[in-house]
Amino acid sequence: MNPSPDRPLTLVGGGLAGALMATLLARRGRRVEVYERRPDPRVHGTETGRSINLALAERGLHALGQAGLRERVMERAVMMRGRMVHAEGQPPALHRYGRDDSEVIWSVSRATLNMLLLDAAERAGARIHFDRRLVEADFARRHAVFEGINDRARIGLDFDTLIGADGAGSALRRAMDAVAPLGQRAELLDHGYKELEIPPTEDGGFRIEPHALHIWPRGGYMCIALPNAEGSFTVTLFLPNRGDPSFASVVTGGEARALFARDFPDALPLMPDLAEHFALHPVGTLGTLYLDRWHLDGRAVLLGDAAHAMVPFHGQGMNCAFEDCVALDRLLAEHGDHETAFAAFAAERAPNAAAIQAMALENYVEMRDRVDDADYLLQRELAAA
Ligand code: FAD
Repeated sequence: MNPSPDRPLTLVGGGLAGALMATLLARRGRRVEVYERRPDPRVHGTETGRSINLALAERGLHALGQAGLRERVMERAVMMRGRMVHAEGQPPALHRYGRDDSEVIWSVSRATLNMLLLDAAERAGARIHFDRRLVEADFARRHAVFEGINDRARIGLDFDTLIGADGAGSALRRAMDAVAPLGQRAELLDHGYKELEIPPTEDGGFRIEPHALHIWPRGGYMCIALPNAEGSFTVTLFLPNRGDPSFASVVTGGEARALFARDFPDALPLMPDLAEHFALHPVGTLGTLYLDRWHLDGRAVLLGDAAHAMVPFHGQGMNCAFEDCVALDRLLAEHGDHETAFAAFAAERAPNAAAIQAMALENYVEMRDRVDDADYLLQRELAAA
């Protein structure tokens, strides 16, 4: 069935991909309604719990450029020229990503980026309904139900098409799978992560080189740190879930201090609140989601983490989600009916997403194990030359 042109496209999720998708579609004059589970972060502040900053690469920047946001995001981003490797017992060494500063990546705050994208979506004409979580989707009647997190109030909505940008735990994916199985497989990594912090100096400066992605590789585990514009670094400790050391053996703040004193001694003095943060912050899980099908004829489609969540070691989950938005926007403009556009979208993007998922898994081994291995790096450079 062709969509009626005056009925809105309904997006589920106003996170990174949902807000960019809404902006691109609204800029084409489409009526766009976004339903987002959380309250408005511009009014109520942001939830903590997931990566505070992200590595933004050229593919993501290109997509932001399509929404007219490249300059605005870059004003708030910190350049990272390469990996600053803190090998055990050696001074830190910078391994550049490219020949010069034309080949770099950028550290951006998730909250700032999300708020810029929400502003852009509204400016373009999208309507965003916060504190509205998708709880049911009846595809036979094209009817969805959203619920308020606090008041539990339910509202029903008739839709033509649902676009699912509701992340790795997607409720829309679950509803689609119940009607026509999507061939879903989730592979959890047996490593988790915890976020910690290197605060700014007393006068607001950076305590270590700001223009780098810092890595402390330690074989089976590692720490990384990405700079924030206000002088701090978000540190992520990746450890196995079992064994020693692991999140099962390092549980208290005191045990975390002992681990850092032994394995990350140059990082420990930079982190005065390590024990408190370790005790307070949750252990995050990591995994890869594979789907055989991303859409339900012309009625619903998934993108971003809802379609292809991946482990974060290539720093490409958001970048890949942004590329999805550009592709779907173009294909919806090219094709008259949604089913054809969605089939073309999945055919174009699924192989790319699968390749990036595989690279992200491979990069974990490289980051924690190989970035301080001079022979390995030399071989890689020779292979690339
Ligand atoms: P999300 O960002 O998860 O957004 C989903 C949105 O949907 C949220 O706003 C949520 O509140 C909303 N929602 C959820 N359920 C519902 C519902 N039922 N109804 C309505 N709304 C709902 N990527 C990079 O490119 N670079 C990095 O450096 C990087 N680092 C990372 C580090 C870590 C530790 C992790 C975990 C991930 C990292 N990623 C990185 C991946 C990146 O975070 C994701 O790929 C990206 O957030 C995907 O965007 P999304 O909009 O698809 O999903």
